[in-house]
Amino acid sequence: MSTTMCASCSFFEDHAANTAATLEGAGLCRFNPPVSQPEADARGLWPVVKSDDWCGHFEEDTQAA
Ligand code: SF4
Repeated sequence: MSTTMCASCSFFEDHAANTAATLEGAGLCRFNPPVSQPEADARGLWPVVKSDDWCGHFEEDTQAA
């Protein structure tokens, strides 16, 4: 059984997708659709979460190596 934290959650994506920047100790949460679309022609952003954070939607990633 893994620890309940974003890094071991099915919805965590540990590579940068919002920008080209590397997210040190963080990643994107894919549980909900992107949020905060500041302009009509801008795209929404995936929420950035810390690797050791967690929430009530945690679901263990059974595909992780
Ligand atoms: S915020 Fe919740 S749903 Fe998103 S990656 Fe972390 S534990 Fe998973």
